[in-house]
Amino acid sequence: MANRKDDILLIGLGRFGQALAQTLTGLGHDVLAIDSDPKVCQACSGDLAHVVTADATSPEALRQVGADQFRSAVVAIGNDIQASIMATFSLVDLGIPRIWAKAITSQHGAILQRVGAHRVVFPERDMGVRVAHTMIGRTIDYVELDDEFVLIETTVPRELAGKSIAAAQVRQRFEVTVLCVKRPGGKFTYATQDTVLNLGDLVVVFGATRKAEAFAALL
Ligand code: ATP
Repeated sequence: MANRKDDILLIGLGRFGQALAQTLTGLGHDVLAIDSDPKVCQACSGDLAHVVTADATSPEALRQVGADQFRSAVVAIGNDIQASIMATFSLVDLGIPRIWAKAITSQHGAILQRVGAHRVVFPERDMGVRVAHTMIGRTIDYVELDDEFVLIETTVPRELAGKSIAAAQVRQRFEVTVLCVKRPGGKFTYATQDTVLNLGDLVVVFGATRKAEAFAALL
């Protein structure tokens, strides 16, 4: 881990932290994972190359493991709000330029932001929103891009089946854009105005939340 530019410092190896660490490692990034519990570190050391036992609430302990060399860090401590805030504050103190932090409540998130986290994520809340949407209508997956825009994976509504995107006037009538289509057994391909929508196809649509939700609620 000579050049730390693309490396990521991860604090807290709970379920969220472990999933992050493994995914980032899979994406080709070196991850230095820190957890205060030696048993947790021991359990993760088979899957992760760099695991260190340290108390991340202490800037001195963080400095000792070279945390100040990183440009990106994530605090994945949730339940222990004091530890989450103190660890975030320690990273700010070390001058790390990009700090993500996980929050479990909106108050927790507001404090993390005030302390200096650059990006606060709410995994439980966001997953609850996402799952709720997949339980309604024809929505298979739902990704909120910001407060007003979403990507929805859904099936083709019956009233559009057999029509091209142009003929169905998807943009004009529903004010959403069909980005890609997947035939049964196939893979997603980019949609064009000539793409014909068939019953059983999956589509990914992008649009303002209300419009995209209305599209996914069509019969
Ligand atoms: P998840 O939901 O992701 O499983 P959680 O929200 O339950 O996690 P916590 O249990 O609060 O999160 O913490 C996650 C991890 O952070 C634990 O493995 C814990 O040992 C570690 N941790 C807690 N405090 C510190 C600290 N001061 N320094 C380093 N690691 C810590």
